[in-house]
Amino acid sequence: MSFIPLRLFSQEKSQSIRAQFPILEQSVNNEPLIYFDNAATSQTPHSVVEALADYYHHDNANIHRGVHTLAEQATRAYEGSRQYIADFIGAKDPSEVIFTSGTTDGINFLARGLVEDQLETDDIILTTPLEHHSNLVPWQELCQRKGAKLEYMPLNEDFQVNLSMLKKRNTENIRAIVIQHVSNVLGVEQPIQALSEWARDHDILLIVDGAQAIPHQAINVNDLGVDAYCFSGHKAYGPTGIGVCYLNERHHQQARPVQYGGEMIHFVGDYESNYKDSPWKFEAGTPPIAQAIALQTALEYINQTGVEAIAQHEAALTQQLYQGLQKIDGIELYQSPAIIARNPHGIISFNFTTIHPHDAASAYDMEGIAVRAGHHCAQVLMRKLDVAATLRASVGMYNTAAEVEQFLLVTKKIKEFFD
Ligand code: PLP
Repeated sequence: MSFIPLRLFSQEKSQSIRAQFPILEQSVNNEPLIYFDNAATSQTPHSVVEALADYYHHDNANIHRGVHTLAEQATRAYEGSRQYIADFIGAKDPSEVIFTSGTTDGINFLARGLVEDQLETDDIILTTPLEHHSNLVPWQELCQRKGAKLEYMPLNEDFQVNLSMLKKRNTENIRAIVIQHVSNVLGVEQPIQALSEWARDHDILLIVDGAQAIPHQAINVNDLGVDAYCFSGHKAYGPTGIGVCYLNERHHQQARPVQYGGEMIHFVGDYESNYKDSPWKFEAGTPPIAQAIALQTALEYINQTGVEAIAQHEAALTQQLYQGLQKIDGIELYQSPAIIARNPHGIISFNFTTIHPHDAASAYDMEGIAVRAGHHCAQVLMRKLDVAATLRASVGMYNTAAEVEQFLLVTKKIKEFFD
């Protein structure tokens, strides 16, 4: 696993980034807003909002079907975004980029469209107890329907897959590994590249939920060696309603659509039809055109800011958060210190030992700070941590060291108030 250097943005750079996010200028409960709920959804810069408006002001038309100028403009922009995203994630070809409505949609498509036909009774799908429900419930449902088994891989003390133990297991009947890249609760990164080497050697599909990785680090699906990789636009400074499922081209023939209708067909006979090639055969109906185009703008913004620089800035903020919370009595932290020291990912889960997380989240809100309280759609992990819920502070590129300091002051104030 790589070591992320810690380097905050300069004050000028931070100011110029924040100026692109007008939502951050507001006060909440008479306090300047501190938005620390980026793992749930990130804010959108001016350029993304403008891309949406620009599309509706100038290019709005349905894609692929029309020959008129607007239809051609919209189609060019939509397919242009696909190409941009392919380059952004290191896909070999834009046909490997399938637009979805988000990570959940992408994973459900893969469960039914790719894995279902290959799964037989007593086959095994491997996963982890850290998964977001989006990357767990579709596989539970599929396994139940097909008489297959869902098994949890062994973890080490840092909550990463224990590869040496995994490699000792019998691989017969294992059809797929379905795993997150970065945890939305603990911010821990899984060793995807090492897993992919093992999976390939044993003819096992590797499907990765990249929802918490894509906005925070450089992703190259080819270097990672994954079969499929899903993410959501709204966690990467883009709009809601759009996501991507990368599907390696070797699966394009075998994977079948799970939605049928207009746009995806090549020829419709009276009783049966045939379909276009990938990616269009997987995109039935009118897609979220404006959102797909604006997703390109969001990724352009990440590129302009610098993917590595964002990762370093967020890593520095995460350490500051963790170390500050460690110094406050009565705070329980859940992530491994080793991960925080080596490879922090912008997410800290914690609890006050004597305050319910929902009460604490309301107290933060009274001070203008947005944090999340709950099970974070990871109930299996909550049981493993032996808690019903945690507080989660998660940072994005526009957060600052001064905001972390203010958050730590407010944390002490909440503690004193409830004590
Ligand atoms: N996977 C992870 C790790 C997530 O954090 C989330 C959202 O919080 C999802 C999947 C689901 O994303 P969406 O709701 O955009 O489909």
